[in-house]
Amino acid sequence: MERYPLTEKDKELIKIGLQVLANNFDDGVYNHTVGCAVLCKNGNIYKGVNCDGIHGSCAEYITVGIAISSGEREFDTIVAVHEKHHNCVIPPCGNCRQMLFEYCPDIKVIVNDENGNLIKVKARDLLPFAWEPVIC
Ligand SMILES: [Zn+2]
Repeated sequence: MERYPLTEKDKELIKIGLQVLANNFDDGVYNHTVGCAVLCKNGNIYKGVNCDGIHGSCAEYITVGIAISSGEREFDTIVAVHEKHHNCVIPPCGNCRQMLFEYCPDIKVIVNDENGNLIKVKARDLLPFAWEPVIC
């Protein structure tokens, strides 16, 4: 698994995710408890928070959906955040790993490594032997 060091832009992405969460935080009614920011290849940045509900949607899903709805198709880096997590970064859940793998397998995901240091890894490396759609 290839690992990439964080850039200044990645640190900015974390701050943007924390800001959108701070602006929309709710741990009572709507449970907006995770922020997310995604950097597109063209430099555009989109942000979002999770939406709770009977099935709910993770912040990564919401944020990638906002980016796609705005016409984006090429993604560079994504991060999910909450200030109480180590280095403020939350790794994507299994469902989000699958979504990222299907939409943008080469997107870099900011995570904590086994030593607690922030790194970036490709979505495809977060989901070995992933399910892939079969095109007949
Ligand atoms: Zn998720």
